[in-house]
Amino acid sequence: MTDQPILCCCEYINKSGERNHMLACCCDCEDLDKACDNCLCCKEIPSDTMRNITATISDRCRIPWCCGHGAIQVRLDVIVPVVVVPSCILVGTVGPITTIVTLIFMPIIMLVSYHLWRRHHSNMRTKFFSTWANISILFSYFVFQTFVVGFRKILLWEFLLLFTAFLIMLYCLYQTKKQPGILMKPKLTASKLNENESHNIQVDTSVMIPAGEVTWIDSRPIEGLYLVTWCGFCNNRKPPRSGHCYVCSSCISVRDHHCVWINNCIGANNHRIFIVCMIFFLFCGLYGSHLTFTTVCTPEMYFNWILFPNDCRFIYSDFQTSISFVTACYVSISTAVMLLAFLQQIMLISQNITSQELHQALVRKKTFCGIYAYNNVHNKGFLRNWMEFIFRPSRSISQKIPM
Ligand SMILES: [Zn+2]
Ligand SMILES: [Zn+2]
Repeated sequence: MTDQPILCCCEYINKSGERNHMLACCCDCEDLDKACDNCLCCKEIPSDTMRNITATISDRCRIPWCCGHGAIQVRLDVIVPVVVVPSCILVGTVGPITTIVTLIFMPIIMLVSYHLWRRHHSNMRTKFFSTWANISILFSYFVFQTFVVGFRKILLWEFLLLFTAFLIMLYCLYQTKKQPGILMKPKLTASKLNENESHNIQVDTSVMIPAGEVTWIDSRPIEGLYLVTWCGFCNNRKPPRSGHCYVCSSCISVRDHHCVWINNCIGANNHRIFIVCMIFFLFCGLYGSHLTFTTVCTPEMYFNWILFPNDCRFIYSDFQTSISFVTACYVSISTAVMLLAFLQQIMLISQNITSQELHQALVRKKTFCGIYAYNNVHNKGFLRNWMEFIFRPSRSISQKIPM
C-alpha cells in the first residue's frame, strides 16, 4: 500500500513533490518573472531559465480526472496541435486575409513549437505529428458533419460514400499502426544507448562486406570500407533491405521510412495497407473538399456531369459558411501534400525500391535524376513489381545479395 494522499479531480502533486491545484497554474513561477524582467531590461534569458519554464509548463499542463489520483498530466507535444489547429481555423473564419495568413502561419507555428519542445526533450519519442494528423482529420470531419451536412444540399448517397471511405481510412490507419515487421528489439532503450553509446555498441566486423564488392543497391549503409551488415544497437545481423529505426529503436524488415504522421515505421508487414490508407485519405480529402466548396459557393455544372464552385462571394457572410470554407481550404492543402508523398511512393514501388534503398543509392551516386536507381537487383519491371507488391504476402529479397 502506498501512502499517496487522495486528491480531488483538480489537484496534483507537482515535480517538487508539493500538493498543487490547477487553478493556481499561473501562480508562483519565479523563472517566468525572471525571464520577463530580462526581456524588459533587454537582457539575454539564460538557457537554464528557459528549461525551467518549459518544465513548469509541462508539469502544470493537466486535465481534471476523477479517480482519486488527481489531475492527469498532458504532454506539451500533444496539447499544442490540439489547441493550435482548431484555433487557427477559427481565426481564419474572420475574412479572406486572415484565412491566407493563418493557413500560411499554422505550419510555421507548429514547426517552431515542435522545435522548442524537441530542444528540451531530445530523447523522447514524440506524438506531435501523429496528434497533428489525428486532430486535423477529426476536426475536419466534425466541421463537415456539423456544418456542411447542415446545409442539406448533399445527397444521401454522396454522404454515405464519403462516410464509408472515412471509416475505411480509419480502419487502414489502425492496421498500419500494427507490427511493421520488427526483426529485433535492442536490449537497451534509446536513451540508455545515448548515454553509454561508446561502451555498448559492438559491431561484428566479420560479417561486413567490403565496399568494393557492393555493386547492387542496398538499404544498409557503407561505413568506411565496409557495407554494414550488423546492427550494433540491436546486436543482431541486418538482413538485406532491412534498416534500423532510431525512433522505434529496432531493426525493421524491408524498411521504407518512419512515418511521423502515424508515429510508426513502414516496413514489410504494413507497406501495402499504408498505400491503401493513403488512397482513402486522398479520396476523402478531394471528395470532402469538393462537396464543401460546391455547397458553400454557388456551383455550376461543367460538361454536363461535374459541379464546380462558381460564385464564392458570400463565404464570409456567416460562421457556418466561413468555417466550412476555411476547413475545406486546409483539407485541400493537406491533400495536395499527401498527393506528393503518394506519387513518390508510386515511383518507388514501380521500380521495387524502398525509400531507404533510394537514399543509399543517392549517397552512392547511383541514381538517374535522384529518382531512378541503377543496379537495383529487385527491379523486375513495372508490371511484375506491382503484381508482387499487391499479391505477395511480403516483399521479396533477391538471392543475388549476400546475407
Ligand atoms: Zn537495429
Ligand atoms: Zn520507426
